[in-house]
Amino acid sequence: MSAIVVKNLVKEYGSVRALNGISLTVEEGEFFCLLGPNGAGKTTFIKVITGQTRGRGHVRVLGVDPMRDPVEVRRRTGIVPETESVPTYLTPWEYLYLVCRIRGVEDAEDRVERYIREFDLREYEDRLCKELSKGTRQRLMIAAAFIHDPPLVVLDEPFINLDPLYQRKFSRYFLKKVDEGTTLLMCTHIIEIAQKLCRRFAVIYRGQVRAMIEDGEDVESAFLRAVGYDAEDLSD
Ligand code: ATP
Repeated sequence: MSAIVVKNLVKEYGSVRALNGISLTVEEGEFFCLLGPNGAGKTTFIKVITGQTRGRGHVRVLGVDPMRDPVEVRRRTGIVPETESVPTYLTPWEYLYLVCRIRGVEDAEDRVERYIREFDLREYEDRLCKELSKGTRQRLMIAAAFIHDPPLVVLDEPFINLDPLYQRKFSRYFLKKVDEGTTLLMCTHIIEIAQKLCRRFAVIYRGQVRAMIEDGEDVESAFLRAVGYDAEDLSD
């Protein structure tokens, strides 16, 4: 079964048409990347497929329609949002525990302990989230997205605020999760990292899929072509 099937998806914010007939399929177990310039519609696409906002068109996520049953889609999906949004007055330990309880993890305390250790959060576990650095908050958001072992995780700019060491660590972590069978959908502007991790890419521009890029192609050139630039024009 495909993890995500989207056909002719349209989303309007007032007079702004953010998604203009997107069609896209992501297979189970793949690490799929959405590329696109600022304002192309990537975050809006993620919001619709994860049931955070409604659009028009055919959408199935793990076989569920997020417009009819957004709670079920979010139960089975992990989300790392573009702007980190940890609850400021909880500690990392409390936040992860809350996510485990809401998502029905049976061994919640043990699970939190494991993720605190694996995500290098031990020294911050009793501090308030609002006191953490941006990178530490991002690590916590990633931990929270994976902690209930969802079959699908959606990553909106997951490397933002991460130093090069953690960019490497999380690159490896994401690949390990894909090896284990998790489906990952990522939006990023960091083509260099995406090219190392993903096998298929969709370029979104003005609310539409303008190109599909397969493994082996030069992703940056294909991206620039799809959004109407010639790579030669941008060289010094
Ligand atoms: P970026 O790479 O800059 O994060 P994006 O590809 O994620 O961009 P979106 O955030 O999905 O793009 O925005 C797509 C379009 O929808 C833009 O024109 C944006 O201004 C508009 N838009 C997004 N959210 C809203 C909103 N809540 N209300 C009105 N317009 C919105």
